[in-house]
Parts: sequence; C-alpha cells; structure tokens
Amino acid sequence: MANNKNKDDANERRGFLKKGLALGLGSLVAGKMLYASDEGEPKKPKEKIKVLTQEGKLIEVDKPTCDSCEPPKGIEARKGIDGRKFTMVIDLSKCTNARKCVEACQHGHDLLPSQEFMQVNLIKDTDYSDPYWQPKSCFHCDNPPCVKVCPVGATFKRTDGIVLVDADQCIGCKFCISACPYSARIFNWSDRDSYETNSLEYSPETQTPGQMGTVSKCDFCPDRAREGKLPYCASSCPMGAIYFGDINEDTITNGEETLRFKETIANRAGYVDKKELGTMPNTYYLPPANRSFDYEKGFKFVDEDRKKRYEESIKSKS
Ligand code: SF4
Repeated sequence: MANNKNKDDANERRGFLKKGLALGLGSLVAGKMLYASDEGEPKKPKEKIKVLTQEGKLIEVDKPTCDSCEPPKGIEARKGIDGRKFTMVIDLSKCTNARKCVEACQHGHDLLPSQEFMQVNLIKDTDYSDPYWQPKSCFHCDNPPCVKVCPVGATFKRTDGIVLVDADQCIGCKFCISACPYSARIFNWSDRDSYETNSLEYSPETQTPGQMGTVSKCDFCPDRAREGKLPYCASSCPMGAIYFGDINEDTITNGEETLRFKETIANRAGYVDKKELGTMPNTYYLPPANRSFDYEKGFKFVDEDRKKRYEESIKSKS
C-alpha cells in the first residue's frame, strides 16, 4: 500500500500544476539558480522548454533537471528487463471483436468499464474494401512523442522498449495525451482510481491501480513478462489473434503457436500504424487477408449503443 509520503508527494506535484505550470517551473528554476550561486559554480547555459501558462500563453523556461527535483521513485521499474526488446503482433484476419482482450485487460489493471487500455475499432480502409476489427493499445513507440513532451519525466522509455507512466511523478498536465497520435492514453478523472483506497502496492511498473488526476495507458504487462506470462490481452484472446514476444529472441507467441518474428513480418506483409510519422511503433499488424468470417459477426459481442456508433463510422466512410 502506498504510504502517506507518496500521497503527499503526489498531491504536492498536482498542486504545483494548479498554481500554474509556468510559475512552478519558474520556482524550480529559481531554486536551482540559488543553489548554483551558493556553490559559486560557473553558470552554464540552460536547456529551455516551452510551457503553457494558465492564460494560454506559450513561454520558454529553463528545463528542470534531476538535481533540482527529488530523484524518481522505482528506479528498478524504470530500467527494464535486461536483454529484452518486447513486441506485439496482431493478426487482423483473426479478430472477431470478441472483446475478451478488453475485458481481461480491464480486470487485470483494475480499470473502470469506460477505461480501455486496449480498444477494438472497426476500420474500413477504402470504399472498395471490407471493414475489419483492429485491436489497438499503446504501441510502445521507439521514438515516442508522449515521452518528449512530459515536463517532469513522469513518462519514460525503458531499455526493453516499454513506455510507462509513473503516477507518483505525473502532474496531470495531459501534454502526453495530446502528443500521442494514436489516442492511446487515458486520464483518471475519478476518485475510484485512487490507489490509496486499494490494498495493492503501487509501482510504476504495474501502474495499477491508477490514481486520480494522472494519465494511464497500456503497459505491455511487464510484471507478467517477468513471470514468463503473456499480457492479459494476448492470453485471453479466444482467436489467438494477439502475439507477444521478444525481438532480440526473434520469437512471438499467442500461447499456442510460436513464430519467428522477422519471418512473420516479412512473409505476411506486417506493418505498423502511421509509419510516416516516424514514431516507430513496437506493435505490428498482419493484414486482414483470407478471413473465414464476416465482420458483422463482431457485432454480436457489443451493446446497441456501441453497435450504432460502429455502423455510423463505417457508413461515413462508404
Ligand atoms: Fe506514446 Fe502513443 Fe506511442 Fe504509446 S502509442 S508510446 S502513448 S506516442
């Protein structure tokens, strides 16, 4: 269970945002300058970052550094699993929108029904092609814009390729939500997400349970990977559509079938979403070729509201 110090620390950081990000960063910078002049160190040119004031004005301030703020917690969780480079491969020809991946992920991460780290979208690429179902979560990009815009280093990329969010560091500014071109992040609006009310011990690696006023997203289940288990989504898919594995080992598996990663991507025209953006996602898709079922089959697993939304989105593209 998170201790009171964690709670105080997190509240302090979010209070810092309320007072105005620019003002807060200014204080940090001022503190650092004071420290430097106390020590009599020669002044070095400081790296600058752009931030929004409460009035919506873009200003430039000195970038805060780790010697001007407390060290991040959970250093081990921030490092990653040695020698690993995780990847996910989703075979779109197998997905029937059974939504078991969504449910298992929500259960495993203690999410509300409205919170989806894994979404399943109905996609229609062209007027002449059939729609298909596309499971989509954070792609754990190798060049992640979300990490670059975080002003406090709360979201980070590990050596094993996984991108995480540390709720104890997050100030809830939502810059990362805007920066992600894949809409992979969610904001924890509700009290229900506060981990202080839960007996689970919070770690940046599990990110569970989420904390009110912070950002969350898919974490590729690194705690399960440490135990040699597949992520919740991959192990729960009844169609075996989701493969997970290690690029360094050149191996992916859905729990029943194990494949060579490079060969599968090369032979089956594997691709990443919006490659042109240069984000370098670590989730690959195999095209929805040779499906033995109609996409309408997927409607039977969803409620009427969602079904209507899906149908309208397809109509608008026809
Ligand atoms: Fe960041 Fe979005 Fe890429 Fe995930 S998919 S690493 S949230 S930019």
